[in-house]
Amino acid sequence: MKIARPIAALIESLQKLPGVGPKSAQRLTYYLLHVPQSQLDDFAESVSRLKKDTVLCSICKNVSEIDPCPICSDPSRDQSQIMVVEQPLDILAFEKTGKFKGVYHVLHGAINPLDNIGPDEIYVQQLLDRISTPSRGSHLESGISEVIIATNPTMEGEATSMYLKKQIGLLNSKFKIRVTRLGMGIPTGADLEYADEVTLTQALEGRRELT
Ligand SMILES: [Zn+2]
Repeated sequence: MKIARPIAALIESLQKLPGVGPKSAQRLTYYLLHVPQSQLDDFAESVSRLKKDTVLCSICKNVSEIDPCPICSDPSRDQSQIMVVEQPLDILAFEKTGKFKGVYHVLHGAINPLDNIGPDEIYVQQLLDRISTPSRGSHLESGISEVIIATNPTMEGEATSMYLKKQIGLLNSKFKIRVTRLGMGIPTGADLEYADEVTLTQALEGRRELT
């Protein structure tokens, strides 16, 4: 039997999403046939506006409606403490703990030689530039006192952490910046975004100096 073209088109689009196989794509598509047209229009509108109405914050690279993002422009946040995360979702996880008062930097990935993802494919240079911009009124002092590396405890996350430590170390002949890594509590190989608030809080409090 030939499937009607609009149905086949949606099944094909949904199948491209992570974690959605052909069977789920079919089920979702036929489910949507029962949804009122107005809801479908709202859904389509949200999808269409998803990228059009968002930008990357020019400071931290988080996804935001405004630039700089609300966290970077919040005067109550400690701008001298930067937590480096792989994905915007990691920020959501840490914000839920309410325990972190600094600011973030989103790499949008991790170094992964097997997939040909090197430092140039993620926002590493932007972080180094941000760190090495001297604070106002000083030639030598960076405005940053601590960089907390909160990449995932996976092989890629560790490789990224080591690379960052080395690069910040090179800057440290000029600046004195603490480089720390999240402490234990998060199982190796896990994604930070799935960790619960207690675990994340412990990992933050138990962070250790990277030497
Ligand atoms: Zn920002």
